[in-house]
Amino acid sequence: MSFRLTVLGSASAMPVSDRNPSAQMLQVYGRLFLLDCGEGAQQQMRRAHLSIVKLSALFISHIHGDHIFGVFPLLSTMGMLGRKAPLDIYAPAAFANHIRFFLAWHGEGLGFELVHHPLEMTDCEELFRTKNVRVSAFPLDHKIEAFGFRFDELYGARKAADPLFRPSSYAYCSDTRPFPALSQYIKGVRVLYHEATYPVEMQDKAQERYHSTTADAARAALEAGAEKLLVGHYSSRIRDFEGYLAECRAIFPETSAVGDMDIYEF
Ligand SMILES: [Zn+2]
Ligand SMILES: [Zn+2]
Repeated sequence: MSFRLTVLGSASAMPVSDRNPSAQMLQVYGRLFLLDCGEGAQQQMRRAHLSIVKLSALFISHIHGDHIFGVFPLLSTMGMLGRKAPLDIYAPAAFANHIRFFLAWHGEGLGFELVHHPLEMTDCEELFRTKNVRVSAFPLDHKIEAFGFRFDELYGARKAADPLFRPSSYAYCSDTRPFPALSQYIKGVRVLYHEATYPVEMQDKAQERYHSTTADAARAALEAGAEKLLVGHYSSRIRDFEGYLAECRAIFPETSAVGDMDIYEF
């Protein structure tokens, strides 16, 4: 098990009593990668015993509130905890405005640098690599500029020679409508998280609001050849979760509907 994913928030725009807005922590060989940072993310990190101060990098898919309203409190707490190491933030170019605002009003005495890497790609592009993982980003099709992220385990000859070894990989796609190029960006990924905001009966709403349905997410997993699909970012209007999950599994049987504090290892 090389990757460990902790779901910190699984709701969409409206936080509900048992679900926070989007945030996930991906742990890769001791590195902590935070994917989106909705309201409440830092409390969820504490509940999950994930270090706030040691965060390796923050990835922001897009600048909708349910994906970023947890950023300022998290940065503030990191400062109070005495972080010194620069923090890499991979976010759309316009996020520079948010960083400027935060530093202007709340940045005094912040003991670490925020290093913004603007996302502007129109195809899947590598962001960086470490000894163990290659991290890439790719465009999504949402109401505003949005990006997905992909993490592929890197390995040496010794592991490659082991017939039981299977490299881990993970892709995070939130928020998006289905679009043809996506299957290339996420081709062959082992575990795919794909938003499925609506059930199939709300297909029109999904299209109009640049979101996906259960069937859209399941088809994306099928086309990518994924091993497992995780769905979330639930509309607060979903009542029948069994029916919702059944719609995914009819197309892609290996689907799980994520909940806050769920952990997946792969
Ligand atoms: Zn959202
Ligand atoms: Zn959105």
